[in-house]
Amino acid sequence: MDFKLNDEQRMLEETVGRLVRDAYGFETREKNRNSALGFSTEMWQQLAELGLLGVPFSEELGGFNGGGQELMVVVEGFGRALLLEPYLATVVLSGTVIDRLGSDEQKAQLLGSIIGGEQRFALAAYEGQAFYDHTQVTTRAVANADGYLLNGSKAVVLHGDSADQLVVIARTSGDDGDAAGLTAFVVAADAAGVSRRGYPTVDGLRAAEISFDNVQLAAAARLGDEGAALPALEAAIERGIVALCAEACGAMEVACDQTLEYIKERQQFGVAIGRFQALQHRMVDMRMALEKARSMTILAACSLELPAAERQRRLAAAKLIIGKTGRLVSEEAIQLHGGMGMMDETAVSHYAKRLVMIDHQLGDQQYHLQRLSALLAVDDDVA
Ligand SMILES: Cc1cc2nc3c(=O)[nH]c(=O)nc-3n(C[C@H](O)[C@H](O)[C@H](O)COP(=O)(O)OP(=O)(O)OC[C@H]3O[C@@H](n4cnc5c(N)ncnc54)[C@H](O)[C@@H]3O)c2cc1C
Repeated sequence: MDFKLNDEQRMLEETVGRLVRDAYGFETREKNRNSALGFSTEMWQQLAELGLLGVPFSEELGGFNGGGQELMVVVEGFGRALLLEPYLATVVLSGTVIDRLGSDEQKAQLLGSIIGGEQRFALAAYEGQAFYDHTQVTTRAVANADGYLLNGSKAVVLHGDSADQLVVIARTSGDDGDAAGLTAFVVAADAAGVSRRGYPTVDGLRAAEISFDNVQLAAAARLGDEGAALPALEAAIERGIVALCAEACGAMEVACDQTLEYIKERQQFGVAIGRFQALQHRMVDMRMALEKARSMTILAACSLELPAAERQRRLAAAKLIIGKTGRLVSEEAIQLHGGMGMMDETAVSHYAKRLVMIDHQLGDQQYHLQRLSALLAVDDDVA
């Protein structure tokens, strides 16, 4: 697929490329990963100063007014460096829900604080029993004289442990699995009744189990109309899928490069192991997988504004392919590195872990295969 960047997109690509090259080497990442927060607040400030935290938001709010392609270009750069900072949680997922549902005043305040780097957000949407079904919500917000009383819990909230604010999806009416009845609220992470248990995830990021025990919310904490949050949540997940696909492409590219470098250097049986044709074939398979993944990512990034049926099909297909190719590239990278590929000290092991976990975020291969089959079946029925 031919995809040429325009001037603005090239500028974004160069900005991110320069930043991660200058400030995000493997050793710096390791230091930040092992810090209490699990990432660097200085890097977060740099992202704000460079305008990168405003990429998807309107110019009136101080953003870049970027679409799927701009998001792709930026996050692919982050994927090359395995950026640890909560861009997906704050800008992509929480930011999209606020952007879609917030009043002008809420958007100016909340998105303003994201763009400026003053506050970090986490999207508390999925629950332990849900298995990617975002309508399986048992967390409830019940209206009372002061606003709403929030009760329930959320599982594996990405960067939920360090967020200043949580965008919480709660049920204000209906039952588990109902599309209607979901409402979004902005909840201060330190509000009375909020408890968080943070932990590192397999891929070196952070997440939290969060529970809400009689948390009193003001009526102004609600984003949008009562019971109508689902389309905004789905838009956030779709943008999140584009971001994950792009991140995977960046990570796969580096995993391929590092593997090629390794097999050219590693001497065995008196020659560099890269001289063996069997390994060259495997290297070619990795590169071809990367090209396929990149084509699907471009397709997904260009599809965010399409009508629902076509958009959903393309995003499900892209996430499915990314899951498959990410798995192949990460497993091959480790195999070709031999024992070295398993070591914490070897960068490629971290690329492999992130690629495997990208498959699990926002729907794994099995989930998107089933979704794609169902979406195609709907079309067959119509035909
Ligand atoms: C919503 C959610 C998001 C997650 N995001 C991340 C992440 O970003 N980074 C990270 O490192 N880890 C994440 N995890 C954790 C990760 O998916 C699993 O903990 C890990 O794959 C468990 O591996 P296992 O081989 O021990 O168990 P498995 O055999 O993989 O699974 C054990 C049990 O957990 C269930 N399960 C596994 N993964 C999921 C999932 N993603 N959603 C729902 N149920 C699941 C399985 O169905 C099974 O019942 C997430 C988990 C959940 C529930």
